[in-house]
Amino acid sequence: MDRSAQFDELRRMMTERRRVLLQTRESQQGELRALQSQDRSREYEEGAQVKLADDVLTTRSETARREVLLIDAALRRMDEGEYGECMDCGQEIPIERLRALPFTFRCQEDEEERERTLRGNVPRPSL
Ligand SMILES: [Zn+2]
Repeated sequence: MDRSAQFDELRRMMTERRRVLLQTRESQQGELRALQSQDRSREYEEGAQVKLADDVLTTRSETARREVLLIDAALRRMDEGEYGECMDCGQEIPIERLRALPFTFRCQEDEEERERTLRGNVPRPSL
């Protein structure tokens, strides 16, 4: 299989993953709204549990949102013909790495280098 066929396969994977993430996020937000509308009439203890569930749902939905953004960025790079190239050194990222991490922007070496640089510093958002 040549690289462009492999990219087509990755595009399908990411598009499907994106669809599932958005769907999950939508149902989580529905749950969240339901929880929040119940919240007011509850006793304190139950209220605290609701708050906890609320935080968990919020975190999950935030993680899903970030993944959707990464997928969007990867699909955009694919459209622009830049997908699969390391944004630091410009070399082709091996297909095995792309299969495992379809929205990575860097080869393993540069990714590790970047993590070493960031460690100890204030984490920066990657987007
Ligand atoms: Zn690189």
